[in-house]
Amino acid sequence: KKRPGREIAPARKTPPPPSDPILDPLNDAQREAVLHEGGHLLVVAGPGTGKTLTLTHRMASLIRSGRGAPEQILGLTFTRKAAREMEERIVSLLQGHAAAIPHITTFHGFCLEILREEGHRIGMSSPFSICPEPDRDAIIREIFSKTEGRKINFRTFLNHLPALKRATLADEEESTPGSAVVTAFRMYQEKLRGLGMLDLDDLEVEASRLLDNHPGVAEKYALMYPHLFVDEYQDTNRIQVAILKALVRVGGARIFAIGDPDQAIYAFRGADLQNFFRFSDDFPGAATIHLEQNYRSGRRLLEGAAFLMEKEKPLEAVAKEPGNISIASCRSEKEEAEMVVAAIERLLGGTTYFSLDSGRVASHEDGMSLSFCDIGVLYRLNTQGDALEEALSRAGIPLVRSGETPLIQKRPVRLICSFLQMVQYPGTDSYRKNYARMVEEMNMQVPLFPESFPGTGTVPDLIRKCMGIHGIETASGEDGESLRRLLAWAEVFDDDLPAFLDALVLERGIDHGGLEGDRVGLMSLHAAKGLEWPVVFITGCEDRLIPCSLFGDHDNAEERRLFYVGMTRARSRLILSHARRRALNGRVLEMAPSPFLEAFPPSLCRPLDRGTWKPKARPHHQLNLF
Ligand code: ATP
Ligand code: MG
Repeated sequence: KKRPGREIAPARKTPPPPSDPILDPLNDAQREAVLHEGGHLLVVAGPGTGKTLTLTHRMASLIRSGRGAPEQILGLTFTRKAAREMEERIVSLLQGHAAAIPHITTFHGFCLEILREEGHRIGMSSPFSICPEPDRDAIIREIFSKTEGRKINFRTFLNHLPALKRATLADEEESTPGSAVVTAFRMYQEKLRGLGMLDLDDLEVEASRLLDNHPGVAEKYALMYPHLFVDEYQDTNRIQVAILKALVRVGGARIFAIGDPDQAIYAFRGADLQNFFRFSDDFPGAATIHLEQNYRSGRRLLEGAAFLMEKEKPLEAVAKEPGNISIASCRSEKEEAEMVVAAIERLLGGTTYFSLDSGRVASHEDGMSLSFCDIGVLYRLNTQGDALEEALSRAGIPLVRSGETPLIQKRPVRLICSFLQMVQYPGTDSYRKNYARMVEEMNMQVPLFPESFPGTGTVPDLIRKCMGIHGIETASGEDGESLRRLLAWAEVFDDDLPAFLDALVLERGIDHGGLEGDRVGLMSLHAAKGLEWPVVFITGCEDRLIPCSLFGDHDNAEERRLFYVGMTRARSRLILSHARRRALNGRVLEMAPSPFLEAFPPSLCRPLDRGTWKPKARPHHQLNLF
């Protein structure tokens, strides 16, 4: 079998130590990818085969062997959560061997850095501000109210927006939507630029424009980061690839990308799976390495995943335990949530209050030793999380929910953000106007100007002062919760207010929820990408929900891949549930099981043994431990 890269791997500078903590755990193919010294490399492999592990080990190996300095390494991930996790892994692999760690960020974050430094070359006002999504929506609605835009559907416009932005790059040919849309788009762009603002879609488009038109800038970044790493390459869009190509073209940067075409789930947001198959055309001389062994899941889970994707043979399981798949049929989404609670209680040892102080208890089932953080509960739509969150909280089960509304979309957070933006950028008119609009909207009496605001201190200090000024320091309910989350989140920024503000507006729903702490993870299938748990529930396995056709057009193949991503998060137990009736956004729908469930032969998944469990009334249990 062809093993690309092997013949070009030169001797390492230092002979490998007798036992190398970076290489020892790796199998042959992973090791080859870590040591590959040729040009660009694409690691193509299924879920749980150690792609992300290989990527982090390669970064650590470069640093520890002296082949690359931490400052020369740029890692690009799709979510901030993934970036943080990767950072943690690197830190533990380096174990004090290097003073610095690589720069790991999202594509958006990287583009923002470039534009902040060099954007003036393409006429970006300096400092420009980023238009958070709620403000963007307000601007668009204002334009619509004044023009022909009244005839344009707001959602349709938003869907067209990324393509319209891309089309402003010279060589893009987009199908042209109706002229009213184009006119509205031009007005929107003008308005944004007039305000000195970029929206999130602009970040990648403008960074790409900058790198293409100013080779010197591309060279600067390529020399700064000769080692580029990209996780989940199957979900890149065309602009992101254009950015990578610009860095490679002029500065000779080298790309190490990993991905799995079967896990492409972001076409609806402009990702282009063809990028993956074009990798060696886009980056000439690229080698490809395949990984075969799956270290995550039991054999039966991999068999199920292979049936779903109609693969000839499943991935090879390293785990000895076969694991199992079960199906739970429920009457309603409420019963489904109770089923999840009861199953968690049973898996963890039978009662709700048991393990809070002891941490771990032996499970009643399978002899597994489980704790809350070993369990993930997934669903297709974020609103499905409400019933689950409610039931779990009522049972006193600690949880962390991600994929929820980004903090910046919560009112008190927007107020604080707009105030601090005004403090940070006193010369920028748009920030003053923005803040004035917020104050008016919220009916507040605060005749305050940033001159009188004490602008020093850590970010949490500034936020607290700002809360005081606006009289919201004692907010309760949802507002209080948002502010608490904001404060916790601000901790890591120390006194770097500009970085905090940028991060706040870049945060998207899927980024949320530090998964730290011993808690059950609750999130959408999209947000679960790249993660794993010993026990995974996929709830709402129903037709119209997965594949999701509730909102009109849907891409069946992508929905199937999304289900595949969900299934392959599980290490040993996968519980698929569906309800016959489901309340969704105020409507009650009769539901049939998902056609994807038909992929599994009965021998592979058994009905969930729900024993004599009955939904029972539980005492309200407030949990303050977390
Ligand atoms: P996904 O496609 O879902 O992102 P992945 O290919 O990135 O999956 P990883 O998350 O890197 O897979 O690894 C899956 C699990 O397998 C992790 O728990 C990881 O620690 C473990 N693993 C990977 N490689 C090895 C190995 N060589 N030896 C032992 N465990 C491994
Ligand atoms: Mg991964």
